[in-house]
Amino acid sequence: MRSILDAIGDTPLIPLRVLGRELPRRILVKCEHLNPGGSVKDRLAKAIVDDAEARGVLRPGMTLIEATAGNTGVGLALVAATRGYELVCVMPEKMSVDKRRVLASLGAEVIITANAPPTSPQNFQNVAKALAAERGWFATDQFQNPVNVQIHADTTGAEILRQVGGPVGAFVAGAGTGGTISGVALAVKQAWPAARIVLADPVGSGLASWVETGEVGPDGSYAVEGIGSSQPPANLHRELIDSAERISDDESFETARRLVAEEGLLVGGSAGTNVAAALRVAARDDIDGPVVTVLPDSWDRYFSTQWMQDWGRRIRK
Ligand code: PMP
Repeated sequence: MRSILDAIGDTPLIPLRVLGRELPRRILVKCEHLNPGGSVKDRLAKAIVDDAEARGVLRPGMTLIEATAGNTGVGLALVAATRGYELVCVMPEKMSVDKRRVLASLGAEVIITANAPPTSPQNFQNVAKALAAERGWFATDQFQNPVNVQIHADTTGAEILRQVGGPVGAFVAGAGTGGTISGVALAVKQAWPAARIVLADPVGSGLASWVETGEVGPDGSYAVEGIGSSQPPANLHRELIDSAERISDDESFETARRLVAEEGLLVGGSAGTNVAAALRVAARDDIDGPVVTVLPDSWDRYFSTQWMQDWGRRIRK
């Protein structure tokens, strides 16, 4: 290996042992929390920079700017540190304090914006866009950049096909940018056209209704980080998605807690959302093969969150 970036990808795919053991289909989880930056986002951080360097639009010493829930920022910080770029991350206020601290420790400049809707100039994506234009920084733009979808087709999806080694019944994932679900769907559907692609969406996000009807659902609040939206992102390809499951915060966090305590998988809240949805899909009788999902990030991003404080009540003195 030449740098830590060579350790990105080729993550384990393992069957759940306890959760869903009574169900007719196996659930296989792709351990993206084991990437060097602790999330699925390392893949696209490296791919976007590789692509921009190859096209000659990014040169050493330049500044990268990204609107990020945190994980893409960590991935980009690893790339920036190993390749000699500056990094600015624009992050909505709702994201955990742990993520801010991690990014600042990695040498990134962190700009916190209000929790504003996509139509507002204060929205984190709009702030990043404006700064990129104003300062001449390179916008990695995970929400629009097609490299995001392509890298998941070429790596995450291809690895899943190889690791399953046979038919895939369903692939289940939440969507932040949509890169993971769209890219994996492309690869899996090409190999196994009968595979069902299911969006795991937080209650309060409008994307589940959009998948079902083409109309975005009402905008509500929820605490799971990194997934769901009140506006479909460009990298979420609706035509590849067959159905959606709505998962409440309580169900997501309880499932994440069980993944940690009962499966030894040290994951964050959106892994709980994905596995809760996968459990529903694995109970369906129209699924032919294992149900595959991703564990997008690591629990260490969430130690300060309210939902994780509640786990500590089990400590007796
Ligand atoms: N979970 C978490 C914790 C994330 O940070 C993200 C990315 N925003 C996702 C899931 C969703 O990944 P994608 O952007 O590929 O849809």
